[in-house]
Amino acid sequence: GDSGSSGKTVLVTGAGQGIGNALVFKLVECKAKVIAVSRTQSRLDKLKASLPHVDIICCDLSDWDETKEKLAKVCENVDFLVNNAAYLKDMSLGDIDEHSIDQHFNLNIKAAINLIQLVGEGMRKRRSGSIVNVSSISAISAIDQQTVYASTKAAIDMVTKLGAKEWGKHNIRVNSVNPTVVWTEMGKAAWTNDQKRNEMLSKTPMGRFAEVHEVVFPIVFLLSDYASMINGVMLPVDGGFLAC
Ligand code: NDP
Repeated sequence: GDSGSSGKTVLVTGAGQGIGNALVFKLVECKAKVIAVSRTQSRLDKLKASLPHVDIICCDLSDWDETKEKLAKVCENVDFLVNNAAYLKDMSLGDIDEHSIDQHFNLNIKAAINLIQLVGEGMRKRRSGSIVNVSSISAISAIDQQTVYASTKAAIDMVTKLGAKEWGKHNIRVNSVNPTVVWTEMGKAAWTNDQKRNEMLSKTPMGRFAEVHEVVFPIVFLLSDYASMINGVMLPVDGGFLAC
């Protein structure tokens, strides 16, 4: 049926692979007009070959100025924004270096705020908008080795809450999804260790990790008018992990 995305212009970051890539396919199926933003041109070219009506923009979102230069214009007409691109590198607290803090925060937080500002002006003018930030269970539960990554995810949840609070009056909703492990390139890289993986699975009532589409559907729902009174929430997509 109608997904509530038909005819809407949706900007998705990190659309080259993983969750963002699958989300683009779903949104196109829902008849949305999609702007796919990512860092690697070849992956965007492949996406464009499959979905010729998708607009692709190659941009290093961790660069504040490049992002403004390349995206300010298209952002004027964006109805829905999905801040999905993120950086993750596991590290023990004692091993954290300054550069890796910057890598995490420049993308996971600064780019998200940059984009929210860029789409916000048009959304306020039209008195309509929906933003979904792809956060993580790591924002809420202390997962080993994720001090920096988890800090950015906790921070993005606060961006969600304050965005919801400040812009609700403009009929702009801001929400997070907080997935457990998803078997993408990022998920595979972070969960190679069998013991760590099994421990995580044992703490998950459903006894498995999330499929990509199981994260995509809740994002599409939160974007849409079916979620028209949902604002400022962190929606776990975790098979019950956070409930325990
Ligand atoms: P992937 O690593 O599979 O894909 C991330 C995408 O983001 C890639 O297309 C990548 O581009 C793009 N990207 C990375 N850096 C930049 C940048 N500087 N500028 C523009 N684009 C960039 O990640 P997932 O699909 O797994 O993750 C998506 C979201 O889900 C993230 O926010 C992540 O934190 C969150 N999440 C993931 C979980 C998991 O287990 N996978 C669990 C919980 C949350 P390129 O093609 O160049 O690599």
